[in-house]
Amino acid sequence: MNRHDAEQIAGALEGAGWSLAESEEEANSIILLTCCVRESAEQRLYGRLASLKSLKQARPVKIAVGGCLAQKVGERMLHEMPHVDLVFGTQQYPNIAVLLEAAENTQVCATNLEGLEFGAGTSFRREQFRAWITITHGCQNFCSYCIVPFVRGPEVSRTIEEVVDEVARHVSGGAREINLLGQNVNSYRLREDGETKFPRLLRILAERFPDTWVRFTTSHPRDLNQEIIGAIAESRTACEHIHLPLQAGSDRILAAMNRGYTAAEYVEKAQDLRRLVSDISLTTDLIVGFPGETEDDFAKTMEVVEACGFDSSFTFIYNSREGTAAARINNDIPGGVKQERLERLMQLTRKLTGVSLARELGREISVMVTGPSRKDPRRWSARSRNNRIVHFERQDADLTGRLAKVVITEAGSWSLKAELLEIID
Ligand code: SAM
Ligand code: SF4
Repeated sequence: MNRHDAEQIAGALEGAGWSLAESEEEANSIILLTCCVRESAEQRLYGRLASLKSLKQARPVKIAVGGCLAQKVGERMLHEMPHVDLVFGTQQYPNIAVLLEAAENTQVCATNLEGLEFGAGTSFRREQFRAWITITHGCQNFCSYCIVPFVRGPEVSRTIEEVVDEVARHVSGGAREINLLGQNVNSYRLREDGETKFPRLLRILAERFPDTWVRFTTSHPRDLNQEIIGAIAESRTACEHIHLPLQAGSDRILAAMNRGYTAAEYVEKAQDLRRLVSDISLTTDLIVGFPGETEDDFAKTMEVVEACGFDSSFTFIYNSREGTAAARINNDIPGGVKQERLERLMQLTRKLTGVSLARELGREISVMVTGPSRKDPRRWSARSRNNRIVHFERQDADLTGRLAKVVITEAGSWSLKAELLEIID
């Protein structure tokens, strides 16, 4: 989502006649896009800003800070960091060119959260073969630990026509995979008339773009229903992967998190997904050390994780985020306990990922090549429909964005190795 935010900013600037500099040294403006969901990203920003201070002393360069931390800190950032010229919030991306111009002679802060205009969407794509498309902006679920509703505003869905038009533009521009984005794709247009239009969107995309892979993230367990599961199962283009954040396995903690489902409801939906969508991979987010989490609560998280057999998991230590409901609960878990629980949880999730990858050995599958492997440029990196990372030996021809059939020969801890059988398309 953050990468796509960057594309939207680059698209708006390109439309106003700007162009992307090859390096920081050549740039006359540097834009830092921030995230404040967890503390570590916040700390990285302040480190980066400190190093840009000396660059600015050496030559005139505009420094802009945008995104959700900018939204949260606003004016204060301009006072604390006098070398920052512009602070712009999460709904100001379409105005970026005008804002940079306004910041020519004076510091500017633009963090208004009202009156978001979706516009025609991004014109800039980092990659030709895949595109990211926002279907909902913002979130109003107010999970008690989460800062997102405060910095991205209430949930607003784009119309089906708008989304389909944008997909059509990307597909005619060479995209073979589209990624639908929203904090909660399952509630796409849910709140306006009480029913979700997400299944309808999946069906329309399958009909209009029968050769385009469709991925989507993130799905909220509370709003995942039988109709959505049915639409994923039936659609030939929707990829067999769902990211369905569980967060915790204890009903007491789930209620305190304001997640809107119980562990048993989650497990039932996970089982339905596995039963109805053949070969689906199920991935998740998990938080340890939520205020008041007991050893018994944590044991329940371990049980549910094991029961769901997640194919891959992102594990986080709870961070208190100022302004959220959970930040007001006075029952912090000591750092050492959180760390120790995280390690136990990671041991389990790593084991489950290993089991899941080992199941793929010997299978022939189709993958989309995403480019040379970053770790080992002698190999291609690709993704299967169910979102596994697959590496195979690189030949001279550029296969980026091509569909290939491979046979899985080796299962590692996070990815698979394969041999190329044929280029399909
Ligand atoms: N909208 C998605 C959902 O409902 O699952 C996820 C969005 S959130 C930006 C991404 C993940 O960050 C969450 O699923 C959660 O696990 C984690 N997260 C959010 N706030 C956190 C916090 N205060 N401490 C630790 N992890 C957090
Ligand atoms: Fe945050 Fe919850 Fe909204 Fe996800 S659904 S963005 S975790 S408030």
